[in-house]
Amino acid sequence: MRILVTGGAGFIGSHLCERLLNEGNEVICLDNFFTGRRENILPLLDNHRFELLRHDVIEPILLEVDQIYNLACPASPIHYQYNPVKTVKTSVMGMINMLGMAKRVRARILQASTSEVYGDPLVHPQPEEYWGNVNPIGLRSCYDEGKRIAETLMMDYHRQNKVDTRIARIFNTYGPRMLENDGRVVSNFVVQALHGESLTLYGAGDQTRSFCYVDDLVEALTRLMNTDKLHEPVNLGNPGEFTIKQLAEEVIRICGSKSDVKYLPLPQDDPKQRKPDIGRAQQMLGWNPTIPLRDGLEKTVAFFRTRLDLRSELSNLRMNPVHT
Ligand code: NAD
Ligand code: UDP
Repeated sequence: MRILVTGGAGFIGSHLCERLLNEGNEVICLDNFFTGRRENILPLLDNHRFELLRHDVIEPILLEVDQIYNLACPASPIHYQYNPVKTVKTSVMGMINMLGMAKRVRARILQASTSEVYGDPLVHPQPEEYWGNVNPIGLRSCYDEGKRIAETLMMDYHRQNKVDTRIARIFNTYGPRMLENDGRVVSNFVVQALHGESLTLYGAGDQTRSFCYVDDLVEALTRLMNTDKLHEPVNLGNPGEFTIKQLAEEVIRICGSKSDVKYLPLPQDDPKQRKPDIGRAQQMLGWNPTIPLRDGLEKTVAFFRTRLDLRSELSNLRMNPVHT
């Protein structure tokens, strides 16, 4: 198959491109490189079935493809709040452009939605039937509401134009290739612990999240894409629930670090709890996450250790160039 992955140079997108290539598909990776990195897809560039397009999804484009994974959108709060109007445009205009293309070339399309559509949830754990508790005018709204209208567009294009749609509601996902400075909790904590700096706990650290390792998520995304007649949203995440304080302790232990924690103010509208009900994914996709937090964190720490070592070697070289 020929498959388009928008946001393919990002964290999840690059793992997905790799997986789809390994399965023998042709992959077109489309990215504007806002938070994506060329180094994420560097090993794929030599593959003759891989094509890279620098393009912004808010501009129309037409590509003859069989499937579209629409992942283009910054996912970390500091990046999606950097230019909130652009974040809304990416979710809304990007979604319209991708759905227009899917309709024209009769491609199946999967939208990377998010647990943020549940906002600060009043139902716990969150099943797909829950409509959520989202602040429409807060700092997180550009992302949360953008993703909600993207789901609306998916359902309307399906009902009105018979576009073959899939909606993945992705819960917090982590793993190698997260950006070390993107502000998300796992990358922040791992980098801080490896540097021996205090881990920055926002609020009392008793808010909860459920963390899914990226390989488990990619498996679920491909299963969802390739399951017939499943147009309703599907939660994808690991139901293991941890407080952010527990996460900090686990990261410090795995890194063998002497770091302590420091408490900083809780950001506006930070959800107090989050845990997916994955009954639908289990039943319809036969999917269960397989990688426990501890194992996933070990792999993530190993990745960041290598990346940080490489960075410090490079900066040493810059300060003390070797003359031949
Ligand atoms: P990421 O920031 O690493 O990747 C997003 C990619 O999209 C980047 O490569 C970026 O350059 C690209 N992009 C952004 N705006 C674009 C635009 N206008 N045109 C073209 N490309 C654009 O984030 P990620 O964690 O890999 O997330 C991928 C998708 O999954 C996002 O849609 C995100 O909302 C969703 N998601 C992620 C998580 C998570 O925990 N990582 C949770 C829920 C949903
Ligand atoms: N968080 C934290 N310290 C950090 C970064 C994040 O305590 O350095 C908290 C944040 O307030 C939130 C949780 O960790 O409660 C997850 O944050 P993240 O930005 O990774 O994801 P999201 O809030 O979108 O679930």
